[in-house]
Amino acid sequence: MKILVINCGSSSLKYQLIDMDTEAVMCKGLCERIGIDGGTVVHKANGNAWEITIDMPTHAEAFAKMLDLMTEGEGAVLKDKAEINAIGHRVVHGGEKFKDSVVISEEVISTIDELSSLAPLHNPPQVVGIRSAQKVFGMDVPQVAVFDTAFHQTMPPTAYIYPVPYEYYEKHSVRRYGFHGTSHKYVSRQAAKFLGKDVEDLKIVTCHLGNGSSMCAVDKGKSIDTTMGLTPLAGILMGTRCGDIDPSVVTYIQDVDNLSSKEVNDLLNKKSGMLGVSGLSSDNRDIEKAAIAGHERAALVHSMLFYEIKKNIGAYSAAMNGLDCVVFTGGIGENSRRVRKYTCRGLEYCGLLYDDEKNQKGSGEFDFATDESRVRALVIPTNEELMIARDTLTLTTAGKAADVESID
Ligand code: ADP
Repeated sequence: MKILVINCGSSSLKYQLIDMDTEAVMCKGLCERIGIDGGTVVHKANGNAWEITIDMPTHAEAFAKMLDLMTEGEGAVLKDKAEINAIGHRVVHGGEKFKDSVVISEEVISTIDELSSLAPLHNPPQVVGIRSAQKVFGMDVPQVAVFDTAFHQTMPPTAYIYPVPYEYYEKHSVRRYGFHGTSHKYVSRQAAKFLGKDVEDLKIVTCHLGNGSSMCAVDKGKSIDTTMGLTPLAGILMGTRCGDIDPSVVTYIQDVDNLSSKEVNDLLNKKSGMLGVSGLSSDNRDIEKAAIAGHERAALVHSMLFYEIKKNIGAYSAAMNGLDCVVFTGGIGENSRRVRKYTCRGLEYCGLLYDDEKNQKGSGEFDFATDESRVRALVIPTNEELMIARDTLTLTTAGKAADVESID
C-alpha cells in the first residue's frame, strides 16, 4: 500500500510517498514559487536529490511535475501513478466540524472551504491542493484530510471557551482550537510505545518547539489543553510570534504608534518573539550562540522561553493531576540541548530529574531522565507525514470514517 502525503501552501507543495508495508519514505520533495516566476522543485529519491527550475502557474502544474519525477528518470520510484493507493492531505483548520481525520467528499471540501475565515492563509490553498490531486489522480483514488486542529477537539469547554461575551463563540466560532495536533498525537503515541506502556495509562506533556511552538496536555491519550488558541499566535513565545500577552498590549501599541489592525497583527506575528526581544534573529541557533557569547537580550529571551515552557509543564501537571512524561519535539525540542536542559532544571518538585550527559549525547528517540526519576523526559522526533499516512491508511482500508485511534 503506497500513500502520498500532500501539504499545500499558497505558493508551495510538499510531498512524501510512503510505502506503508514498511513505513519507509520512497521519495519526497518540495515545489516552491507556484504562481510566481522562477519556480523550483527539489525531489529526493534513491539516495539522491534533484533541483529543477520550472514555472508552475498553478498547483496543477506542480502536481503534474511531481508525478513526472516520481514515475520518470533517475528519481523515479513508481512505474505508474496507479500504484498510489491513497492520498492524505494536511489541512490546518477543521474548526469544530472535524474531530478526526476524514475521507474527502464534496461535502468535506465545501466545509474546509467554509472554515477559511478561521485560517485564511492555509485552508484555501489546501482546498486547491485537494482539487488538483483529484484532477491529476482521478476520483477513484481515495483522499483523506488530516487536520492540525482535530486532536484538540477533545478539550473540555473549561479549556477552550474564552472569557469574552459568549455570543462571539456562538456567532463567530471564537474559541481555543489549538494546532500542531498531528505532531502532538504522533509523539504522545510514540512516547507510550517507547516506554512500553499504553497511552491510556499516561499523563504526558508534549512540547512541539520549532519556528512555531505549542505544548499540549495529553491525558490518557487525549488532548485536554494546549497553548495555541483561536490562531497559532497564542501560547509560548516563538521565533517571530509573541505568544500570550496582556490583550491590552495590542490596542495600546495600536494607539501609540497609530497602527492599523493588520499592521499590529503583522508586528505580533512576524516581528515579535525571539526576534522582537533579541533584536537579532528568530532562529534558535543564532539566539543560543549569541546568548552563550554574552548577548544580553538573546540570553533574556532564551531564559524567557525556558521559563514559559517550565510554567506550562507545571500548569498542565495541575490540569492532569499528575505527570508521567515530558516529550520534546520539533526543530528546537529535538536538537537544542540547552533548551531541554534549562527547561527541565527546577522540575525536581514534580519528580523529574534529568541527566545532562544523556541529554547531551542522545540521538533519535531517547530518554534523558535519570534512572531514579519518576517522570520520564523524552525526545521523540516528530513525523507528521507518517501520522497523516497512518490515518489515511486506516480510513481508506476501512472504507469509512472509522475511529482512527484504532491504528495505534
Ligand atoms: P518549523 O516550525 O518551521 O517546522 P522546525 O521544527 O524546523 O520549524 O524548527 C526550527 C527551529 O529549530 C529553528 O529555530 C532552529 O534554530 C531550531 N534548530 C534546528 N536545529 C537546531 C540545533 N541543532 N540546535 C538548536 N536549535 C536548532
